[in-house]
Amino acid sequence: MLKELIDKFYLDRKKDKEQHHFYITDAGKCTRATFFKFKNAPRKEMEARVLRMFDHGDSIHQLIMKSLFSVREIRVVASEVNIPPQEIISGRADAIISDGKEQYVLDIKSTNSMIFEKLKGPKEEDINQVQLYLHFFKIKNGILLYVNKDSQDLKEFQVKYDPKRVASLLKDLQDLKRKIEANTIPLPLPDWPDNWQCRYCQFADVCRAIGRRELSWEDFKKQLESQNLNLGL
Ligand code: SF4
Repeated sequence: MLKELIDKFYLDRKKDKEQHHFYITDAGKCTRATFFKFKNAPRKEMEARVLRMFDHGDSIHQLIMKSLFSVREIRVVASEVNIPPQEIISGRADAIISDGKEQYVLDIKSTNSMIFEKLKGPKEEDINQVQLYLHFFKIKNGILLYVNKDSQDLKEFQVKYDPKRVASLLKDLQDLKRKIEANTIPLPLPDWPDNWQCRYCQFADVCRAIGRRELSWEDFKKQLESQNLNLGL
């Protein structure tokens, strides 16, 4: 009884909506999946279990912030801080902290033991996010703090602002924006369907139906109609 009620609580809270602007988490990720989010393409519903894991990640962030608010050596300048409004992207960094000499953008990531143990450096997709935070906050240094949610062990990595990487990420987003406006479905990831993002992708069925080609979203929908295929479009 409780399991069903708790599952329903999570599933009711998370209603998949059409996306209207980029989030920092989209940067450097599969452009086709982001295109589908903008077009509200049919997607596999996220399991309540996965939504609870996200919630658990949020509680871990709060635990870390509680300790940072208490230590004397660090000052929390701001927590849960939105990037300044601009046209292309929105996002919220976990915190901006200061050691009295420098300011740092802090991004906290919770992960399972298997991934945590393998971490020798920060993950590329996490560096992308921090780079954009550094760019929009005009801060030179970032810290990626990984929390092993099974053991509560911590690993931290410093990230230095890299204007070349930021320029490339922003250019990719501008290119994708043009494709969204022109209704052109981008190509899948070069190593589709083996990329780790494909394993967790809610749009895998639609993506497979399109295959490795760039085509118009409208043409694709007509093609499905003519073949009497229904993917929920
Ligand atoms: S299945 Fe892979 S390539 Fe296709 S949209 Fe999803 S993440 Fe992108």
